[in-house]
Amino acid sequence: MEWDHGHLTFEDPRRFGVFTCNDAVLAGLGPEPLSPDFTPATLARIGCSRQPVKVRLMDPAQVSGIGNIYASELLHRAGISPRRRSDRIRDAEWPVLRDAIRQVLEEAIARNLRAHQLGISPYYHEAGTRGTWADDASPFLVYDRANEPCARCGSAIRRCEQAGRSTYWCPGCQR
Ligand SMILES: [Zn+2]
Repeated sequence: MEWDHGHLTFEDPRRFGVFTCNDAVLAGLGPEPLSPDFTPATLARIGCSRQPVKVRLMDPAQVSGIGNIYASELLHRAGISPRRRSDRIRDAEWPVLRDAIRQVLEEAIARNLRAHQLGISPYYHEAGTRGTWADDASPFLVYDRANEPCARCGSAIRRCEQAGRSTYWCPGCQR
């Protein structure tokens, strides 16, 4: 569609998207992880909860834009178990988690742009067509890899359900 700022393209291969003109929706959202003011202190405030950290991070009222796949991936990168209570995360871990969130989301955006340029679906993996990528490998280190060895430590990846969603983690390098 055309609007004041040029051409707007809406792509939504998994049909989770919605357009709205209702600002109240935005008012209810937590901070945007890629914004400059998403600091470790911001994250530590969000973490004042007994909820498991993955459930907390996926709550859009707490943090915007962290989906299920990337929640598993960024917690693996941070070395934090998705099942750990948010208020049990140590002070020194908040900067690590903040950086992991940003890195994983930025890499996902870059990968999705690349998929767009190649004309393939960024969701190839969920569609069950593993190997569509040029490098013939899933970009995910734990997601959908139950029982496979962790690329970092070799332990078998585990799967569980949290808040009705599949969670994948490595018991060897995530505590
Ligand atoms: Zn591991």
